[in-house]
Amino acid sequence: MRPTRLDPLFASVTKLPGIGPKIAKTITNLLVGSPDREARISDLLFHVPVNVIDRRLRPGIVGSPEGAIVTLELHIDHHRAPPRNSRAPYKVQAHDESGTIELVFFRAHGDYLHRTLPEGEKRIVSGKVEWFNDRAQMVHPDHMVSEEEAENLPLVEPVYPMTAGLASKTLQRAMGTALEFLPKLPEWQDKSFVDQRGFPPFDEALRSIHKPEDSQVLAPQGKARARLAYDEFLANQLALALVRNSLRHMGGCGRKGDGSLRRKILAALPFELTDGQHAALNEIFADLEEPARMLRLLQGDVGSGKTVVGLLAMAAVIETGSQAAMMAPTDILARQHFASMKPLCDAAGIRVAVLSGKDTAKTKREIGAALEAGEIDLIVGTHALFQSTVNFKDLGITIVDEQHRFGVHQRLALSSKGAHVDVLVMTATPIPRTLVLSYFGDMDVSRLTDKPKGRQEIKTVSISLDRIGEVVERLKTMIVQGQKIYWVCPLVEESEKIDLAAAEERFNDLQNALGPVVALVHGRQKSDQKQAAMDAFKTGDARVLVATTVIEVGVDVPDATIIVIEHAERFGLAQLHQLRGRVGRGSLASSCLLLFKAPLNETAAARLNILRETNDGFLIAEEDLRLRGEGELLGTRQSGTPGFRLASIEDHADLMEVARDDAKLILATDPELETERGDALRHLLYLFARDEAIRLLRAG
Ligand code: ADP
Ligand code: MG
Repeated sequence: MRPTRLDPLFASVTKLPGIGPKIAKTITNLLVGSPDREARISDLLFHVPVNVIDRRLRPGIVGSPEGAIVTLELHIDHHRAPPRNSRAPYKVQAHDESGTIELVFFRAHGDYLHRTLPEGEKRIVSGKVEWFNDRAQMVHPDHMVSEEEAENLPLVEPVYPMTAGLASKTLQRAMGTALEFLPKLPEWQDKSFVDQRGFPPFDEALRSIHKPEDSQVLAPQGKARARLAYDEFLANQLALALVRNSLRHMGGCGRKGDGSLRRKILAALPFELTDGQHAALNEIFADLEEPARMLRLLQGDVGSGKTVVGLLAMAAVIETGSQAAMMAPTDILARQHFASMKPLCDAAGIRVAVLSGKDTAKTKREIGAALEAGEIDLIVGTHALFQSTVNFKDLGITIVDEQHRFGVHQRLALSSKGAHVDVLVMTATPIPRTLVLSYFGDMDVSRLTDKPKGRQEIKTVSISLDRIGEVVERLKTMIVQGQKIYWVCPLVEESEKIDLAAAEERFNDLQNALGPVVALVHGRQKSDQKQAAMDAFKTGDARVLVATTVIEVGVDVPDATIIVIEHAERFGLAQLHQLRGRVGRGSLASSCLLLFKAPLNETAAARLNILRETNDGFLIAEEDLRLRGEGELLGTRQSGTPGFRLASIEDHADLMEVARDDAKLILATDPELETERGDALRHLLYLFARDEAIRLLRAG
């Protein structure tokens, strides 16, 4: 139950003066980003200004610098309305002791201006002064008030990130009232920590940010911003810690297999494991033997060989008589994992099946029945696996591949499918540590830092799209040499502009130029069409695979050696690195051709440069963070995973670590949040929409 003290903050923004349904909709778009719920007063209050306009400068007319924002005390002299039907502006002459100024209005209403600026009276006017031939002008002053009203003139005015259809005055007025709704809330932070950092209380911090005294107040390192960032981090870390605690406490059970299945798989592998793979497996096996539940993240750059680690982890659990599930983000990837694991499973006598949302109802039913009866040991699938209709006889381990595509909900759903499910999350996108913390909380982490032996560096070059003809010519030679080539086109989406080189058009072009060795795969195809194209490419019937970004994650055709990425400037750095990782998977020299449309903007040029210079995924992830900010790095903008509104991982990274420790300590001493501080912390979780985690508490 939400603490009643928070009710005013959860009220709709339509409760504020001047906010009708239409503006509320605009605000909802801006602040919530989806029409699922209407923006609340708290959403508005978490929308913080990016800058201030300082109106404290009162230099008099003649002393006003060109382009400066000033506040002037003016005597209004006379109005000069333009002739009827003229487009000329409406002008009002005024003066002070130092000189004269002209106030200029376009498309003005004379009545209104006569009321606001009555001739012969004194008015306080604030806005930007411009000089033309020694004459001062102010176009559309921001404020025009009488001396009595001047007290209400905001001398330092916050500037909010704007959106079309929302006037800044409307927003400011709404914000003013929203602050009045802000109740006194209990302090949820540790008192001595707050004192030591000099943090103001939560409500004071918000007030000072919306009524800034100067621009310093808005600096990320300022006390008010830092306080709010810390609040948000703590809410995030506490929620993750609660999820983790509840998963752990639902109990794992020690699993110690006899090693028989693992031995058979290893014998059937055409290669030796790398040192990194051995080390990760040892950590995983140790986790499995512990009575607590495993929650481990396996990080490894593209091509580092995570899949086989996952398979061996599952084999260890299957040895104890339980079942295993591997969840992949796409249909293609699920089927590919199935195809690559099938021969190894057959060699070990593991019964394996694949299930995706695209299967027929009949197949789903049959597989569901077999899972429930315990006739399948290992199931690979998409998130269809975690629909409520799928039940296991005894699920022991879940492997989640390419995790960043799944949200918190799915992560919670994972654990509900069995009494003691161990969880291993595999991710190829190398995530800097602070991001790991913010998305996964304090999970254990294993890293694959080495690559399988004999891999060659991928050579990366960038070429202007103007030279696409030459590139196609070169492909002809490469095809004759027996090479396999990916050709990646930007995604075709209804909403996206037609100027995106449509994959189908490119497919036709290439087929015309190269003959029937070209295949096409994209997200809109039926599952069997996709599979046919992938199969043709694998067997070599097709030499060129034209694809949209469906191949981005995980697709494995080890003898593909060239990847051409068209409109490379439209992709993000991490995504380009992922795509490039589709080649360089065997012992053959590989290359990546980035086709870009000139001229490149600065960021795009920087991205392509970094890719040319390095193949190191961790370095690339750091650069990516620097160039784009954390939200886009994890694709959260698309997937709608709740990000941070007040904190920025770049500016407040140090606070994230503190929050993690704080959350741990809180739950160690008050696991059910029952103390006075615990109660205050429940307010915090609701306020930052992390209340889902509260449901995991016994006391609710
Ligand atoms: P990722 O970590 O990107 O998921 P994969 O698991 O798909 O990588 O592995 C990439 C390729 O490397 C696959 O073809 C796989 O069979 C191969 N591979 C994995 N481990 C080794 C190894 N130790 N030695 C040689 N090849 C390996
Ligand atoms: Mg993979």
